[in-house]
Amino acid sequence: MKKTRLREYARLIVRCGVNVQKDQEVMIYADLDQPEFVKMVVEEAYKAKAKKVVVEWNYQPLQKLHVRYQSVKTLGAVEPWQEARQEHFCQVLPARIHLESSDPDGLKGINMEKVTKARQMSYPILKPYRDRRENRDQWCIAAVPGEAWAKKVFPGMRTSLAVEKLWEAILDTARVTDDPVKAWEEHNADLAKRCDYLNSLKIRSLHYTAENGTDLTVGMMDEGCWRGGRDTSLQGIAFNANIPTEECFISPKKGMAEGVVYSTKPLSYRGQLIDNFSIRFENGKAVEAKAETGEELLNAMISMDEGAAYLGECALVPQKSPICESGILFYNTLFDENAACHLALGMGYADTIQDYQNKTLEQCREMGLNDSMIHEDFMIGCDSMNIDATCADGKVVPIFRNGNWAF
Ligand code: ZN
Ligand code: ZN
Repeated sequence: MKKTRLREYARLIVRCGVNVQKDQEVMIYADLDQPEFVKMVVEEAYKAKAKKVVVEWNYQPLQKLHVRYQSVKTLGAVEPWQEARQEHFCQVLPARIHLESSDPDGLKGINMEKVTKARQMSYPILKPYRDRRENRDQWCIAAVPGEAWAKKVFPGMRTSLAVEKLWEAILDTARVTDDPVKAWEEHNADLAKRCDYLNSLKIRSLHYTAENGTDLTVGMMDEGCWRGGRDTSLQGIAFNANIPTEECFISPKKGMAEGVVYSTKPLSYRGQLIDNFSIRFENGKAVEAKAETGEELLNAMISMDEGAAYLGECALVPQKSPICESGILFYNTLFDENAACHLALGMGYADTIQDYQNKTLEQCREMGLNDSMIHEDFMIGCDSMNIDATCADGKVVPIFRNGNWAF
């Protein structure tokens, strides 16, 4: 890939993605796949006047070794210095950049029970720090190709060619055009307009149906608010949390989901694939989950904690989105979630509640915002998907017809 285009992409992540502020600290989380690109991002962050940029490298094979050889107690422990670091993050609110490139099934065979137990140990200690940062910091998830990932997306292709193809797909869907910043301005404005319309309807529930058997009704909070594209932190800094993004989304009301929903794309959860699955909901709770691939993993995910069985997000993405039209199955949620309507199990987003700036997280949760240690998107959109909204005034309004916006 041409260096100039990569440089544009790095700049886009720093300026449009997290919008690094003068004297701000920046944390970058990356795998070992594209060190040259990570260097570009670091340089762009310094050019945006970042005070300090720290890169934390990840390497899946090491993750596997740690899980294999450490005891659950060691894996799940949070050392005092790690807590001190969390405290530092809460104090200085660094901009967080996550650069994804890992192998979608790179952690296959890992002992999930051990991972789950360790996570259940560390989570209660880390959660208060996460809650304190919620909506206050800027963050952005973007992607770069890894070799194993590229081979999964383009099987049968020479590795170098597959990586090049994946770069192209990533940069095209991320709108790295001649003027990416302008392209993102227009895209953000378009998503904002759609959200304004959805908010004007005062939707109380959504009814999803599709030819694959999906028939699900999900209730909304009275105070719910659709969001899409650009976000603004409580410090008043605009940022784009996902590059790419095509969704208008909302957090539904906990306890109000009835019916069954079928997946339409595989889900890579913690480095392992779950595919061809369905989930049945009663009183908002996932009570039955079946999968052709990864059923055990799916059920482990749903039982991570109490909130993992409840929905945290309803997102609308038309089949006519650039990612869907590329026809590429990415095996990566960042892309696949932006190619299809999706739901998420687990934590809901407080910023999808009106006037959340003046509410505490506890108040948001009392209104029906779900809380969990997980937030996992799974894709349900397809060409035959219809969605109808029941509004506060009792009117039923078509939102989606045959997989695309009905308005
Ligand atoms: Zn989403
Ligand atoms: Zn999500």
